Amino acid sequence: MRSTKAVIYSENLRANVREIQKNLQSGVRLCCAVKANGYGNDAVNSARIFEELGAEYLAIAAVSEGIELRAAGIRTKLLLLSLASPSEFDLIVKNGITPLVFDEEYIAEFEKACKRNTVSSAKNAGHIKYGVFLAVDTGMGRIGCLPSEAASLAERISCSKWITLDGMITHFAVSDSISPENIAYTRAQYAAFMDAEQAIRARGINPGIRTCAASAASMAFPEFQLDMVRPGIILYGYYADEVTKDYLLQKGVPLALRPVMQFETEVCAIRRFSAGKSVSYGRTWCAQTDTDIAVLPVGYADGLLRRNSPGLCVTINGRAYPIVGRICMDQCMVDIGLNNPDVKRWDKAVLFGPKKDAEHPEAEALFDADDLARMTGTISYEIMTSIPTSRVSRVLG
Ligand SMILES: *Cc1c(COP(=O)(O)O)cnc(C)c1O
Repeated sequence: MRSTKAVIYSENLRANVREIQKNLQSGVRLCCAVKANGYGNDAVNSARIFEELGAEYLAIAAVSEGIELRAAGIRTKLLLLSLASPSEFDLIVKNGITPLVFDEEYIAEFEKACKRNTVSSAKNAGHIKYGVFLAVDTGMGRIGCLPSEAASLAERISCSKWITLDGMITHFAVSDSISPENIAYTRAQYAAFMDAEQAIRARGINPGIRTCAASAASMAFPEFQLDMVRPGIILYGYYADEVTKDYLLQKGVPLALRPVMQFETEVCAIRRFSAGKSVSYGRTWCAQTDTDIAVLPVGYADGLLRRNSPGLCVTINGRAYPIVGRICMDQCMVDIGLNNPDVKRWDKAVLFGPKKDAEHPEAEALFDADDLARMTGTISYEIMTSIPTSRVSRVLG
């Protein structure tokens, strides 16, 4: 096996789910996001764990992700968070995936797919209505109907011969921010969602499962948990932007998370460089003194972003060493210093993972995905989803 791999610590994933569950009000269901290969953390393994721990739904973004989960034996309901092409509608129905809908054209097209693929049951002497969620855009500006349109669309769905309203969903734009104006924006989104729900109920329609909160809001605004929360990033061990552990502790939410993924490789060569010799493309770094350079078989095509050098350090046997020179597509180089007795060929080099600290002395990483994200001007989500499965195997650890 290639030495560059992503080790997935299932016990950390389980512990994160239990932490989240501890902070849910009673009866609140879990919809665990497994889109984008479980944020890079192996969708199938993650889905099995979420299923075992009682998730009501798993959230996907592409129909192909749902097909992969069904092929792996996952039976839990799947909520498709993005819109699909009408050419995929038959596959949605055949795989029992719950779509979001919010306009007449999409609904009518989806009804046709339900009709084409309908399964009659002797019990209801007809067909089983297919469940959909109504998406309401309360301020994210992505998908969803206007709150003022929600009641008439709910009525359209509830009058359908083919589909039925299983729930309603909205998504927050700034619930991961703790600035007063952003908190006010989130509260206004929530109020608009509640208005839409009231309008639906006023027509005598049951809105089904109401869900608005992803990771940040589900923990920072426990009163927004409603019938179901939709965590993603916190499952995989990272806080959502400004809603950090410290902030949550102040609010009385003791959420202790552990990163699930460790991105690692091995030293594949150690090479002596005399003073003045340069490393990599562009000759951006030259040895100031005689030194040894460790070569790592990991590069930007593995998700180790090129702009991380200079700056990024990797952990080898518990110590941090800087990447020097430009990161190449498939390789990068690390300055380990002259005659370093702590680094040998084939030793493990950790790019990021669950960090070593007083509580976790056994951990190998000195940096996590948040550290890389901060350096790179991005978020942990992007760091993990940038690691391609085609080149970097996910190995259960
Ligand atoms: C991705 C996504 C989530 C999960 O978001 P996190 O910030 O990772 O918790 C929830 N709901 C929707 C609609 C999403 O697109």
